[in-house]
Amino acid sequence: MIYPWQREQWGKMMQLKQAQRLPHAIMLYGEEGSGKSGFAQSLSASLLCRQPTQNGEACGSCSSCHLISAETHPDLTYLKPIAPENSKSKKPVLNIRIDVIRKLCTKLTSSSQFEGYRIAIIENADKMLVQGANALLKTLEEPGNQTLIVLVTSRPHRLPVTIRSRCQSLRFPHPSESVALDWLQAQGLKTPEIALKYAHGAPLRALNQHEESLEQREILARALIAGLNGESSLSYSAKLANLPKDISMGWLLDWINDLVRLKNTECNSDIINEKNRPHLIKLAQKSDLKKIFALNDLVIGYIRKETIALNLQLVWENLLISWDSL
Ligand SMILES: [Zn+2]
Repeated sequence: MIYPWQREQWGKMMQLKQAQRLPHAIMLYGEEGSGKSGFAQSLSASLLCRQPTQNGEACGSCSSCHLISAETHPDLTYLKPIAPENSKSKKPVLNIRIDVIRKLCTKLTSSSQFEGYRIAIIENADKMLVQGANALLKTLEEPGNQTLIVLVTSRPHRLPVTIRSRCQSLRFPHPSESVALDWLQAQGLKTPEIALKYAHGAPLRALNQHEESLEQREILARALIAGLNGESSLSYSAKLANLPKDISMGWLLDWINDLVRLKNTECNSDIINEKNRPHLIKLAQKSDLKKIFALNDLVIGYIRKETIALNLQLVWENLLISWDSL
């Protein structure tokens, strides 16, 4: 899938393909939700397809394209972070293991099944463990003919510089607001403006998370304005503890950012939680900036901590107490 905001990047790749100057390794980087993975898949399909269309996209109907859509193409490997073997944790830390990378390197150095490209897409490549990255480095230093390794990452700085320096980089910024809104509307989203705001401008995140997350965001909103209505916010802590930790705490950071904006600027400044503006204005008036920043640091600290080490209900109780005493 080539999204409307990726035409420039696509054109660049197709030019290189035509000139037979495609690099052996490309790093697609940019914020989450900008469609990098879809682009990586389209690029791979384009190189493996037997009769690409005029703008270089895969035809979708040749034997190669059929194998790709069945996820059985022998010359295309797709890697993503997985849980460690024998992990008993409910929420294990996912990573790309060294044995998987070694297997991939062997595959890339053996000959292609269809006498064409051999391609690997490594999703969330920054989750490669150090030994894995070192193993991959050897293949990047001596790539075979017609091999392409596509690294996809939202955190390029977490990849070793030795890896990054051997890849051609292709950046995927968020599209302009109008392009993103047009696209979201075409996908049938009823409230594209709110969705895009909540997703910090990332159109795919806006599309994928919006419908289901509205209800969950509402739980947080009710907890955060409970104090204004003389209710106890703590009664929401159990419900909040059941939400995905990093996402729900990210929403709390949105509220904190909105408070800071309203405190520092005029009451009509641009905020994310537009629906709760009157509540946020009241909260901004009574709160103390130093305490807001302290809460911000506290939330970031919790986001960085692994879930295993946390009793989430206690964490939320702590956060709500801090919020109520801002
Ligand atoms: Zn095809």
